[in-house]
Parts: sequence; C-alpha cells; structure tokens
Amino acid sequence: MPSLGFIGLGSMGGPMARNLVSAGHGVTAFDVDPPAIEAVAEAGATAASSAGEAAAGADVVFLSLPGPANVEAVVDEIAADLREGSVLVDLTTSTPGTTNDVADRLADRGVDVLGAPVSGGASGARDATLSIIVGGDRAVFEACEPLFRDIGTDVFHVGEEPGHGHAVKLLNNYLSNVALIATSEAVILGDQAGLDRETLVDVFSVSSGRNSANQDKIPDHVLTGGYDMGFKLGLMEKDMRLLSEFAGDQGIPMLLGHLTRDITGYAKTKKGYDGDMTRVYDFLEELMVE
Ligand code: NAD
Repeated sequence: MPSLGFIGLGSMGGPMARNLVSAGHGVTAFDVDPPAIEAVAEAGATAASSAGEAAAGADVVFLSLPGPANVEAVVDEIAADLREGSVLVDLTTSTPGTTNDVADRLADRGVDVLGAPVSGGASGARDATLSIIVGGDRAVFEACEPLFRDIGTDVFHVGEEPGHGHAVKLLNNYLSNVALIATSEAVILGDQAGLDRETLVDVFSVSSGRNSANQDKIPDHVLTGGYDMGFKLGLMEKDMRLLSEFAGDQGIPMLLGHLTRDITGYAKTKKGYDGDMTRVYDFLEELMVE
C-alpha cells in the first residue's frame, strides 16, 4: 500500500484523511490548527509537526487547503521534501492556472501532480461519497484511482492537464451557487405571498425547477434553522472570485457569473467568512423583505 501524507484537516480534509486511515493506509497528517491534527491522530493517523514532515517519504501527498494562495505557500514549504516519483494530489478548490504552475514546477523534481477537487460537502467527506473531479496524466490518475475510491463514489478523469479538474469544479460550484441564490429568492417571494415554504421546496424538488438547493440545501439546512452545510460563505465567495478570474483568463465575459460573485461577496460581508453558505438565504431575505 502506498504511504500517504495529508495536509489540511478541516471540514473536508479531516474526514477524508480519516477515511484513508479506515481503508488501511498509513497516513501522516498535518494542519496549522493542532486540534485538527489531534482529531485525525485519534483515528489512527500519525501526527506530523510540519507540512514538510507530512510530505517527506510519502508516495502520495494530499492537500485540502482553503484556496490557491495556501496551496502555493504549502508547495513552497514542502517542495524539497517531496520524494522523486511521488504524486501530489490537490483536493483544494483552486484555480486551473495555480494547479498547472505547481505541476510545471514540481515536474523538475520528478513529482507528478493531479488536480482533484471534490464535491459533496462535509457529509460526503464523512460518508466517503464525494465526487472527485480529476485532471492530469491518465496513467497517474489510474494509479491513484483506488485512493480516490476510498474517499468518494463518483470519480471522473476530466482532462490531461492538472488544472482541468479545477476548471470543472469552479463551473460546478457556480451552478450550485446560482441554484441556491435563485431558489432562495423564489422561496422568499412565495413565503411573502402566503405560501408554505416546505410545500414550495417539495414541489420544486420533483418538478422542472429542481436543483441541489431545493432538494437538499434549503429543506435540510435553511428551513430546519440549522444552517449546517459545513461549507463556509468565505470559501464560496472565494470560489466565485476564482470563477470570475478563470473567465477573465479565458477572455470570456460573464453576466450572471460576476453578479453571483458579488451577491456572495456581500453575503460574506454581512454574515461573516465562517457563516454557513446557506446564510445567503437570510442575507437575501433581509434585502427583499421589509
Ligand atoms: P476548512 O477551512 O474547514 O479547512 C481548511 C484547513 O486548512 C483548516 O483546518 C486550516 O487550518 C488548514 N490550513 C490552512 N493553511 C494551512 C497550511 N499552510 N498548512 C496546513 N494546514 C493549513 O475548509 P474545508 O471546508 O475543509 O475546505 C477545504 C477545501 O475544500 C476548500 O478549497 C473548499 O473550497 C473545498 N471544498 C469544501 C467543501 C465543503 O463543503 N466544506 C466542499 C467541496 C470543496
């Protein structure tokens, strides 16, 4: 079995690292937040005292970090520790450009890079039911595929460039967030018109208006009052910003894409970086209702 390093043990990385341990792998884990390391060590991982220690000697090193700036910083930190012939798998929602730059840089050291962002939320990470969207060399992907199957159920190879996975992920999160914003507006309007909110999402979720917001996020995380998707508004705002930058890099204009980025940015300002992504519902309600 390959020996694994895992860096970034938050809402997603923690459960993914635990699932790799449960599958029988030796995992050496690091996070800048000590309690996050302790939680994974209790499940059987080896606690590292630095990112370099988690990377040193591992056959495959996983990153699950907030965004591209953190990925660049950690790669700077671990580049000299990565062993020739090893694979760096970036599970972070990052940018295609960052992932391709990291791959070019590490190619000189004989390290392969797969960009492998995930979808399915904290519950998917816990239950090992994530979608994993992988870009990079097919042979390297195939060698790592059994590891992806330990943390997810739907594993896609979407292109030969390491950044292709991150391009697909940004587009996916755009659709997820547009659906949440549009469905929030529809439910708030219906509520104001005297309709029952649960009934509204029941109808939408089996009719032509169905999407992930009315099938899951709004009924299970807004109408319950829980706001507990486990995905921070600050991270969704980052994803929408990265989507806008990606469109700019391609020279492609977007109307709704930039508007979605700005709505999410205002929601983050009002509800906080750590507010759950579903708090965008409250933000819109405060704007729409007197
Ligand atoms: P999180 O903020 O809960 O976790 C990020 C972790 O990275 C934190 O524990 C933090 O301490 C650690 N970290 C930051 N800098 C570090 C460094 N230099 N060295 C080591 N550790 C460092 O975020 P999350 O929700 O786990 O998301 C991780 C990534 O997955 C993000 O890119 C996010 O956009 C993406 N994602 C999240 C979800 C979700 O539902 N939470 C779903 C899909 C994708």
